Order: sequence, then structure tokens, then C-alpha cells
Amino acid sequence: MFNVQVLGISAAVPAMGRGVSAQVVSFNDKNYLIDCGEATQIQLNKFRVKVMKIDAIFISHLHGDHVFGLPGLLSSMSMDGRSNPLYLFAPAALKDVLEFILKQTNSYLSYKLEFIPIEDFPAGEPVFITDNLRVSTIPLLHRIFCRGYKFEEINKKPKFDFYKAKALEIPNQYFHLLKQGNPVTLENGNTIYPEQVLLPADIPRSYAYCSDTAYFPSMIPHIHGCSLLYHEATFGEEHRLRAKETFHSTAKEAAMIAKKAKVKQLILGHFSARYKDLTPLIEEAAAVFPAAEAAEEGKIYSL
Ligand SMILES: [Zn+2]
Ligand SMILES: [Zn+2]
Repeated sequence: MFNVQVLGISAAVPAMGRGVSAQVVSFNDKNYLIDCGEATQIQLNKFRVKVMKIDAIFISHLHGDHVFGLPGLLSSMSMDGRSNPLYLFAPAALKDVLEFILKQTNSYLSYKLEFIPIEDFPAGEPVFITDNLRVSTIPLLHRIFCRGYKFEEINKKPKFDFYKAKALEIPNQYFHLLKQGNPVTLENGNTIYPEQVLLPADIPRSYAYCSDTAYFPSMIPHIHGCSLLYHEATFGEEHRLRAKETFHSTAKEAAMIAKKAKVKQLILGHFSARYKDLTPLIEEAAAVFPAAEAAEEGKIYSL
């Protein structure tokens, strides 16, 4: 299983029924929360994601619409009696912020919060590897230090071609050795090599989360060929200058990144509250990259 559920698509403030940035990536029964804007707990409840089933949290940057929900969420996990350690990947300054809030509000956590500052890792280097999943950061260009995250599958194994093996009259007892990549010598003296019976492995699936950022082509090598890209599209082209000033992107710019990076699918989010109707933004993006759509809150994107 490799799913992405978007919990909020609004920039800056919850508006028009839209939540602010937060997403859940589910991979092989583990759940990872990316960003945690205000009221993320409400969105988690609404879309039936169990708070206790979050295994790690990844924060892109310290703007409020990406972190203001975090102290509340951490406290709720404690009130529910969490005992498993929680890994939190985030810009280093978040540690002091959380410690201050927890101390001043006399809050106590029932579990160990393992804080991992992402500045310790160059962009593109893995920050987290587990169970056939690798998470690395993506360089972004924003008003403050900000990184995106790439979740990618690893260790895809070549597939064993049963029919080819049968056609070569290989006895069943040799199958497991060939599956492991070992050549075998049959009783008739013929040697069979794994390449003769193995099909190429599937292309590893990957998800890239890019919020918030100005138009920044330097991210392209990091997200090249991704199965699914989430890219912010705070503005439409009519506010291109405003996007530039605030280090955000337009829908067209997000689509240009998707096109150049040759990703399979693009979902847009982080929309300014000025857009009640998102259609013009999506049309603008689809003119450049047809496989573009507005991310939908609660919808599960299966990779
Ligand atoms: Zn934001
Ligand atoms: Zn921001």
C-alpha cells in the first residue's frame, strides 16, 4: 500500500471550509504526517485517521499554517496514552518552540519525542529509511528555510517468470535459488542464469511534497519521474508578481515544474483564500501539464 491523503489545501488561514497544510502518507501499514497546520486534528478526525497510528511527522518549515497544529496534536497523543516513541523531522528551531510551549503550558508527554533536525542532512540525502521506504528532503525556495519531502519505494525485486521457468523445464526445487539471483546447474548439466527467468522489477513508486516555494527549477533533479507530485499553487498568473514577492508559485509555474520533471501526475494545493472557485487555476496549470488537478481534501491518492 502506498497512499497519500491530503487534509488541507488552504494557504495561510483555514478558509471557505478548507483546512491548512497537512497530509498523511501511508506505506505498508505505517502512517506519516507531513506538516501540521492549525486544526489538523479536526481534519484527522473528519477523515478518520487515527492519531495514535501516526508513526512519524515531517515538517517542511516553521510558518504557522504548517506547524500551529503540532503542540495540540502532540498533547492529544499523550492524553491518549501513547508510549511508542515519535520521530519528528523538522527545521532545528522547532525544537525550542515546542519545548517552550510544553514547559509554559505545564504539558507532559507520555512518550519519547525523537527530534531530528533536517539541516543535518543535505537536500536529497535520505533522512529516514525503513521497511522498503526512503524519505529524503527536497530543496525549496521560500522566505524562510523550507524543505519538501520525497517518499520513495526501495528494494523493488525482479519478478520471477513462472512460465519461462516451466518452458526451460527447470524443476520446482530450483525456483527459490533463481528468485534470489543465483545461477543453478540442473541434473542434465545445463546451467540456468537468473536473467533467463526474471522479469525487470516494477519502477519504484514515489511521492514528492513541495510546499511552500517560489518557482524553483533546482528542485527538478530531486523529483524527476515521480509518480505523484504535490506542488503549491498559491496564486494564479494574474498575481505573478505577488507570488514572486512572497516566495510562492502560480499554478502555471507548478505545472512547468511538473512538466520539466516528467512526473506522472500533479496535484495542486496551498490556495490563497482569494480563490473561491479553483477552476481558473486548474485550467492555467492543465494548459501546461494536462495531468494536473486540485488536491481534494480527504481524497486518497493511491500510487
Ligand atoms: Zn504555507
Ligand atoms: Zn510558508
